[in-house]
Amino acid sequence: MGRIKVVVIGESGGTPLAGGATSCYMVEAEGYAVLLDIGSGALSLLQKIRPFDSIDDIIISHFHSDHVADAGVAIYSRLIAMQLGRHVHPLLFHAMEKRELEIAPYSSAVIIDEGIPEKIGPFSISYIRTRHPVPCLAMKLSYGGKSVVYTADGAFSEKIAEFSSSSDILIAECSFYPGTGSQEAGHMDVYDVVKLAAAASPGKLIVSHLPVYGNRNEILDYIKGRWNGEVLLAHPFLELEV
Ligand SMILES: [Zn+2]
Repeated sequence: MGRIKVVVIGESGGTPLAGGATSCYMVEAEGYAVLLDIGSGALSLLQKIRPFDSIDDIIISHFHSDHVADAGVAIYSRLIAMQLGRHVHPLLFHAMEKRELEIAPYSSAVIIDEGIPEKIGPFSISYIRTRHPVPCLAMKLSYGGKSVVYTADGAFSEKIAEFSSSSDILIAECSFYPGTGSQEAGHMDVYDVVKLAAAASPGKLIVSHLPVYGNRNEILDYIKGRWNGEVLLAHPFLELEV
């Protein structure tokens, strides 16, 4: 049976920490890697572990800058690679709109949405819309009987809990410390993440899209005190395999 590897590239919500990045996760099976979001600083950090030429597919959950900021420079990377005669494929973005993602011959874009399943490399992928101020998709990547769910951004709902149910790895956003979140913001706080984990029972929980202030270990401690499963705080190059 094949295995899925998840590597966190960027874990910060809104803006990167010094030397870090905002939302970006690499999911790999059979040597085929897909990026989930490409936030600020992601392209720089990614290249520490993998040549960007080897990445063909980038899924964009939504068009907030902390998820899509490096898309433009990713296209420039492909432009330069092609002009230098390196053997690369055009980048293929998967997003709800094409916007500036499609710059032939360096990149193209396919439209994704809830109810439209996709196949990318070895992965079967499905999407649902989350509760966020702009249209946003959570996604589930399945391969070899294993699944990885990425909540992207969105308030807690029964729908996201059901979608995340029994995932082997759940990457959940946690934008706020205890008592500081609000449903209206269209994000989860640590209390919501505990609810999600309890309802979905993932094999492993990665808590990400973290605040860029305060002590993030408080988030980990809060969850560990209320949920018995395996939970990890996201940081660049955190790697899990199932
Ligand atoms: Zn975000």
